[in-house]
Amino acid sequence: MFKLLRFVLVAGMLGFALYVLFWPGAAPVLQVGTDRPGVGRGGTTATVRASASRGVTTLRVEAAQGERAVLLGERVMKAPAPWAFWRGRVREVKLDVELSPATIPELAEGNLTLRVTAEGAGALLRGPRVSKENVDLPVRLTPPTLGVTSRQNYVAQGGSGVVVYRVGDRALEEGARDGVQAGSWFFPGHALGGSDPAARFALYGVPYDLSEPSEIRLVVEDNLGNAATIAFVERFFARPLETDTIRLSAAFMEKVVPEILARTPGQSDRGDLLENYLAINGELRSRNAESLRELGRASRETFLWSDTFLQLPGSQVMSSFADRRTYFFDGKKVDQQDHLGFDLASVSSAPVPAANRGVVVMARYFGIYGNTVVLDHGVGLMSLYSHLSTIDVTEGQEVDKGHTLGRTGETGLAGGDHLHFTTLIRGLAVNPIEWWDPAWIRDRVLGKLAVPASE
Ligand SMILES: [Zn+2]
Repeated sequence: MFKLLRFVLVAGMLGFALYVLFWPGAAPVLQVGTDRPGVGRGGTTATVRASASRGVTTLRVEAAQGERAVLLGERVMKAPAPWAFWRGRVREVKLDVELSPATIPELAEGNLTLRVTAEGAGALLRGPRVSKENVDLPVRLTPPTLGVTSRQNYVAQGGSGVVVYRVGDRALEEGARDGVQAGSWFFPGHALGGSDPAARFALYGVPYDLSEPSEIRLVVEDNLGNAATIAFVERFFARPLETDTIRLSAAFMEKVVPEILARTPGQSDRGDLLENYLAINGELRSRNAESLRELGRASRETFLWSDTFLQLPGSQVMSSFADRRTYFFDGKKVDQQDHLGFDLASVSSAPVPAANRGVVVMARYFGIYGNTVVLDHGVGLMSLYSHLSTIDVTEGQEVDKGHTLGRTGETGLAGGDHLHFTTLIRGLAVNPIEWWDPAWIRDRVLGKLAVPASE
């Protein structure tokens, strides 16, 4: 009995000694990934992972071009002694390194090799197990070509524009992008049609509060972040915001606040009329603007309309596009907001026609706008009809120009029966006056989009 026990004990000790002295464990397993398919001016992040059951002690990443190598990152772990099997070992090590002209001096176009080396813990009489992996990445530092082909690139503050341009092949690869950047808004480009895929156009809006035309630029960027931009606007018509003063009355707030609170889940009651009003006029207004921006991202890829947009028939303009409104209550300034649309008044409960052909993408109660219909006309262009008393269409429905969408009313933030109307590009409110003008549509939109007959 004792003999057997002694044998087991000795065998166990011998096994442990052999393990400590000679068994270095398996070599670390490496995983290398990059967020872009190569290295360009935009930079690429490489994520490297090494894992080993007996622990990883070193992970090193270098970038090599020809004879030159640059250390991009290194992690060294303190390994516990080989017999201290109870001590914590770092079994997985992760390292993110940035590959760009900033981290790799004298980076040249061509090829770059990412060299990854990891060492495992090792045993007492055997060195550590080392794993190596090389990943080749193309390096490109020149942007795709970009040239503007449309003439008369004139645009107004708060207005809309179309620009036609040509891009180099690399701008058409997956992960590349092109379009117009106007302040913080980006308007993606589309194929012009015809046989030349390099011919592109963008429909863009100029934010109503952007007064510096150099902030409107055509942009092309390949999938490695190499970007070219052109300031293409030849003439810019500044249209400073109008200013207006609104004197709030308790009677007006008592009319609009309870309805909006009751019909807007998520808008909490603050227990005070003025506070509720200010939350609706401020926070809810911005939430509604964000929803319109989201709708704009899902616009149809092709134009659904073909001619001038309709204005509400027989209507009077009560308020035109882009007013900066200062609100007073009890003689004190309490708020300031920008009003972005036309307020059109007709007879009460007047039928509201679709301004042009499109698809209904919203038909519901919509915060400050009350009962609202939004039509998608394609390529980011939409029109919005609000404060309606009734809605006669449903989401997803296709409507022709002139189709009755509903009737005017005073739901939402409205003091009396009127239609709040605006056009939107990718959710940015733009002045509808241009879209009501047949000459403007012909010269600034349709004339530019015509594909030459020879193609
Ligand atoms: Zn309005």
